Amino acid sequence: MPKTVGVAVSNATFHFDKLYTYAVMPDQQNAVKLGSMVLVPFGRGSRARMGVVLACDAEPESAKLKYLFDVAPASACLTPELLRLVHFLKERTFCTYYEAVKAVIPYGAQYKPAVAADGVTPVLQKQLTRHTENSYRLVGGLPPKPKPTAKQLAAVALLGGGPRTLNELEDKGISRAVLDNLCTKGVLECSKVNKSIDLYSSIPLKNEPITLTQEQQAAYDALLPKLEDDAPHSALLYGVTGSGKTLVFLKLIARCLEQGRRALVMVPEISLTPQMILRLKSQFGRRVAVQHSALNHTERLLQWQMIQDDGADIVVGTRSAIFSPLENIGLIIIDEEQEHTYRSESAPRYSAHEVARQRAAENGALLLLASATPSTESFYAAQHGRTQLVRLTQRYGGNPLPTVQIVDMRAELAAGNPREISLALEDAIRRNLDAGKQTILLLNRRGYQTMAQCEDCREVLKCTKCSVPMVYHKAAHKVLCHYCGSQMEPPTVCPACGGKLQYRGFGTQKAEEELAKLFPDARVLRMDQDSTAAKDAHEKLLARFANHEYDIMVGTQMVAKGLDFEDVTLVGVLGIDSLLFAQGFRAYENVFSLITQVVGRSGRARDPGFAIIQTTDPDNPVLNLAAAQDYDAFFEQEIAYRKLGLYPPFCGLCVIGFAGAKEIEVARAAARFAALLGQQAAKQPDLPLRVLGPTPGSIEKINDTYRYKLTIKCRNDRRFRDLVRSTLERYEQEKLPSKATVAVDLHSDGD
Ligand code: ADP
Ligand code: ZN
Repeated sequence: MPKTVGVAVSNATFHFDKLYTYAVMPDQQNAVKLGSMVLVPFGRGSRARMGVVLACDAEPESAKLKYLFDVAPASACLTPELLRLVHFLKERTFCTYYEAVKAVIPYGAQYKPAVAADGVTPVLQKQLTRHTENSYRLVGGLPPKPKPTAKQLAAVALLGGGPRTLNELEDKGISRAVLDNLCTKGVLECSKVNKSIDLYSSIPLKNEPITLTQEQQAAYDALLPKLEDDAPHSALLYGVTGSGKTLVFLKLIARCLEQGRRALVMVPEISLTPQMILRLKSQFGRRVAVQHSALNHTERLLQWQMIQDDGADIVVGTRSAIFSPLENIGLIIIDEEQEHTYRSESAPRYSAHEVARQRAAENGALLLLASATPSTESFYAAQHGRTQLVRLTQRYGGNPLPTVQIVDMRAELAAGNPREISLALEDAIRRNLDAGKQTILLLNRRGYQTMAQCEDCREVLKCTKCSVPMVYHKAAHKVLCHYCGSQMEPPTVCPACGGKLQYRGFGTQKAEEELAKLFPDARVLRMDQDSTAAKDAHEKLLARFANHEYDIMVGTQMVAKGLDFEDVTLVGVLGIDSLLFAQGFRAYENVFSLITQVVGRSGRARDPGFAIIQTTDPDNPVLNLAAAQDYDAFFEQEIAYRKLGLYPPFCGLCVIGFAGAKEIEVARAAARFAALLGQQAAKQPDLPLRVLGPTPGSIEKINDTYRYKLTIKCRNDRRFRDLVRSTLERYEQEKLPSKATVAVDLHSDGD
């Protein structure tokens, strides 16, 4: 029963982020413990602020301690492991305590400040969440007049089978307006029911026995001892596309559950969760929980509580799911482990890999990374024995990897085809259509025309707030900025010189239109951020594609990953060239991975697959290695380049970003930080360090905010992190006139 506590307070800036000591009233002493959420008076005026108890019986820093306002019930308390993760994040990512707290408990699991009934006392109040939803049931027949609409008839027919929730009815295309109207007519009755905690309740349990192929069995056997003992281990499952990595996961999870332990399965994108859930639920039943950011607050909270209350054996989710309050973890799987989405781009700037490694260590679990194109760092670690390497070299069912043809688009133009779809691709699509097969086309740019350029001064039409080109969207007849969302009527003349603007470039909307012209009978599905904005749209569209309601799917990188459709036998890659020249040391790795992934969607079942890559740079070595799907050769080339240029895994990389409204001040802030860092580093001449910059960000301005960065090649160890931390503290103390904000993003050398 602590008399004083050390509290991490919300909204503390980095410089003032420490544990503040508070006194605990006698009647609160039973409730307070490490990890409790509390409400505290803070600063002048003693305004109420949220906090979390991170120390008990803390040393009072002054004689006059303030008392806690209120303490949340124990159910809102952080588990000991999550508490340790808060400290881990603070140490590794330079965030504040409370930023770390917010990462480990989702919004909604938290309490918020409120005022008690007396109108004065600050208290904690549970965030209101809607735990109920509307349910409709049939109570009368449809009146004969006026004539019932088709939707009304459909609603009545559906409800003839028993009551249904609004959500279920909306899924069948019946709107709330139709239902409410039937209620006023006395046909239906509406009541509130508790929301089902089971988000995917309609998935039938199949529990078919899994029979692994010989190669899959060998992989499983190699991993099993690491799963079965209590020590932490890590392994990399490197398996070509379609080799059945998921089946190996399922077997390992089954074994993990048999041992009475839990499993955490990470996927890189929300769009890939439904498929994974489908497989896990049909195999293992109901005790599967989901965590990702597209769930609404109530769903997210219900799922979180289900995990906390020991109601889940398996958790599936995207990056933040790594913080699930799952206990006794035996297995953590990170699928498509090379994906950049596993790194957080806002505070705390963590990578799911490093948190996973930490949790595996705490739980004595097996951390299994899986990919057809592992990140260079992960493969290097496996090659050097720091991680166990397990391979799957063959596709399930014995199909070879797809045959890939590279088409030179310059030659295409010279031969008189001005279109963005080459004759070879056109021909292949036509043959595929005739054979009743499906086609996936990757075009990594959404919109209609991707830029507008002046015919006279060659100036490109840019966003007024961002240094990026505006993109024309035909349906809305607007030009849009994909960074800040600004939009305007498409201008016809150049804002700089008044010359004529020419709209060019090929986005997914235009591709959809071209395909409709070339293949008038084909059913074309466009998949991009615009076409999948509605809730569940993504899932529904994919289900319809699987159901053969479409022949061709054209889309951005969301069509490249994880999809498993048996009748897709052709893949086309359009306009990948810009990515080949992208900045950043991972550019080649990303292109290689993207192409290999999308090509790997072809020919996964009975029929062999084929793919065409269109490019203006047909001799490009990365493209050619991707076409050959030769990861090993790509890795050899890439690792040599990393070594020569001194990039991870041969060093750690720390990027310190500066942002602010005035360019000159941002530049000055960056320079000042660099100088302070230099002073601090001079005290430790043996610390390996190479500072590059400051330089303007690769996109100089986003949403009227200028960006500069400092790139440091370093060794990511405690000494280096202490150096950055002390520099940050000094920088924050200095109170420069500029308002630039600082963000530190540290890539370790190990992952
Ligand atoms: P990967 O993730 O390695 O690309 P998947 O795990 O999606 O591959 O497997 C590819 C396809 O082959 C899936 O449709 C999967 O169900 C099937 N498959 C793989 N291995 C087996 C197996 N042992 N038994 C039955 N089906 C399998
Ligand atoms: Zn913009």
